[in-house]
Amino acid sequence: MLVARELLTEGASVCLVDRHTCGREASWAGGGIVSPLYPWRYSEAVTALASKAQDAYPALTADLLNETGIDPQYRACGLLMLDAQDREQALQWSSRHTRHIHVWSEHEIYAHERELAPGRVSAMWMPTVANVRNPRLLQALRASVNSFPTAVIKEHCDVQSINIIGGRASSARVIQNGIASLIQASSVIVTAGAWTGKLLTDMQTGAESRLDSLVQIAPVKGEMLLYRTERPLLTGIVLSNGRYLIPRSDNLILAGSTLEYCDFDKTISEHARTSLAASAEGLLPALAESSIIAQWAGLRPGSPAGIPYIGRVQGLDNLYVNAGHFRNGLVLAPASAKLLVDIVLGRTPDIDPSPYDPALRRATDSFGS
Ligand SMILES: Cc1cc2nc3c(=O)[nH]c(=O)nc-3n(C[C@H](O)[C@H](O)[C@H](O)COP(=O)(O)OP(=O)(O)OC[C@H]3O[C@@H](n4cnc5c(N)ncnc54)[C@H](O)[C@@H]3O)c2cc1C
Repeated sequence: MLVARELLTEGASVCLVDRHTCGREASWAGGGIVSPLYPWRYSEAVTALASKAQDAYPALTADLLNETGIDPQYRACGLLMLDAQDREQALQWSSRHTRHIHVWSEHEIYAHERELAPGRVSAMWMPTVANVRNPRLLQALRASVNSFPTAVIKEHCDVQSINIIGGRASSARVIQNGIASLIQASSVIVTAGAWTGKLLTDMQTGAESRLDSLVQIAPVKGEMLLYRTERPLLTGIVLSNGRYLIPRSDNLILAGSTLEYCDFDKTISEHARTSLAASAEGLLPALAESSIIAQWAGLRPGSPAGIPYIGRVQGLDNLYVNAGHFRNGLVLAPASAKLLVDIVLGRTPDIDPSPYDPALRRATDSFGS
């Protein structure tokens, strides 16, 4: 939807196709932390997009509120990291990228978060990290896209394949309400998250080049719990051993998340609930007295080193991809969408596009890297 909005703003006509309602998959299921977890552990390619996007978020969310009346609840609440053994790397990364990290003592930790379980003697504090209420961000984006006279949103419309003729994506074959049809466009952009690899594999390539190995994107399930508390228990995001708590308004706290490699299965499990609750209540004991009001799962688009594919698909003039953001699709989205639109419109990008270029990565990518 951010890609669509950026193109619409530039005067393009856009047909946005989703097989469900827009914004109900990973982008809805995520936590909305506007930062990678342990950002220094990622490559410069992820940091470059994250930095641009973090700078863009305050204006983006304010614009969406003005345009649509829907508040994405962007809040710079800070991120408190209670573990992180690699503190030296974190501090070096922080001074290189001017993203502040402070080392806190026991006194500072508990002055800030009074309800945390005792026993934490030091932590790292990133004051500028924000969280955004992603379901509301998505509602606002959909309303924004829908308000352009040159936008068409086709929901419950499943893209079955993309037809390739003469080195170009000539049309998308879709099924809506049981009826098959073709959608034609001068440019086609695939933003199908975890399903992107599958969709490209299913493309009707005829005698032309094989496209199934163009991107290596695989689903990685993440489960999440939602607590409702009697009173506010947290002021900011808290992270420990890969598990986190995110405070929302209305006395809601999100507890995330699992990392499960299990194909396209979004089933929630008792095992995940128990494990997430143990981590959450171990961090914030008062949660044990609160109710878990929801549990859900989403499929992250996993990619090698978590670097998204952004750019033109090799060998095809008018087929583009923007997918594979793994654990960071919400934070990276504004910069990722802007970069893709720069490429589509032939504008000079403000960051180097090569680390994300599907054609350049084809030879070097491997999972586990
Ligand atoms: C539990 C969890 C926690 C997370 N927390 C965070 C976080 O705190 N911060 C952060 O930055 N990121 C987070 N993420 C990651 C983030 O959610 C993803 O990286 C991001 O949402 C990916 O966005 P996307 O648009 O590529 O995919 P999606 O949001 O999954 O969207 C893909 C869309 O494509 C549609 N589609 C797929 N196939 C077809 C087809 N054939 N035809 C038509 N439509 C199709 C789907 O219906 C869907 O709407 C989290 C993810 C999970 C699961």
